[in-house]
Amino acid sequence: MQLFDAHCHLQDERLGTLQDVVQEAASKGVQQLACNGCWAGDDWARVAAAAAEHPAAIVPNFGLHPWWLAQRSPGWLQQLREMLVAYPRAGLGECGLDRGPRGPAVEWAVQLEAFEQQLQLAQELLRPVSIHCVKAYGAVNDVLRRLNITVPVVLHSWTGAVEMTTTLLQLPNVHVSLSGHITKLAPHKAVPMIRAVPLERLLLESDSPDGLLQLSPAWLAELPSLRSLPQQLADAGLLEVNRPCVLPWTLQLVAAALCKPAEEVAGATYANAQRVFRTSGSSGMT
Ligand SMILES: [Zn+2]
Repeated sequence: MQLFDAHCHLQDERLGTLQDVVQEAASKGVQQLACNGCWAGDDWARVAAAAAEHPAAIVPNFGLHPWWLAQRSPGWLQQLREMLVAYPRAGLGECGLDRGPRGPAVEWAVQLEAFEQQLQLAQELLRPVSIHCVKAYGAVNDVLRRLNITVPVVLHSWTGAVEMTTTLLQLPNVHVSLSGHITKLAPHKAVPMIRAVPLERLLLESDSPDGLLQLSPAWLAELPSLRSLPQQLADAGLLEVNRPCVLPWTLQLVAAALCKPAEEVAGATYANAQRVFRTSGSSGMT
């Protein structure tokens, strides 16, 4: 069974040695990983170095995350363009909008402008774009439509409501990417949302080193087939720092929510991610 981690941060110091993390992921079937950079300069450089070390496994993504907007340099957008031109396989990520408590200390108009500029750049260079969205679902929906974004869109660590998910999925280029963050939602909200996503639009991600899979008693009551997961995650050392090797368990949760065999969900999500990140080798590689 092959899995594709559609969003992670392998350059994060909390993860330890890149070689170990990639090898451990591969031992669990996680063959490819989309690694996201969040700010200009050293973070993008670390993502580029990781992709150079494991070119078959790691797809680099470069973007300005809203949490790092306040520290942006005047030339960040030009630097981002140069990185994307220099790395033709790279996607744009991550960027987005955040109105939550961890959102940036900048005016909303500044967030919106940086997000729009990055979407326009992704569209111009025909790159997939990985979007962070916290309490800004309607705004993301409006911007994607207003700017007529048609490149593949990854709604990363998605936790939106069913209605908003359905509205966004009316756009044929939008994909919903699920991580352990989904377990922060009550299962009676999360499970119908997961079921509202057509299999051909679904992706799996770790969001490592964040995005821990934490199943509350309510989740275990809703999906009893997952009863042994908490112990398995503890045994795998996945309770504090999340690693891409978590993906088989994320797959189990999503497959249980969909009442589908894990193999079917794995096959579909792997093919979807290969299409989005243009890693199938047959077409779209520039
Ligand atoms: Zn991220």
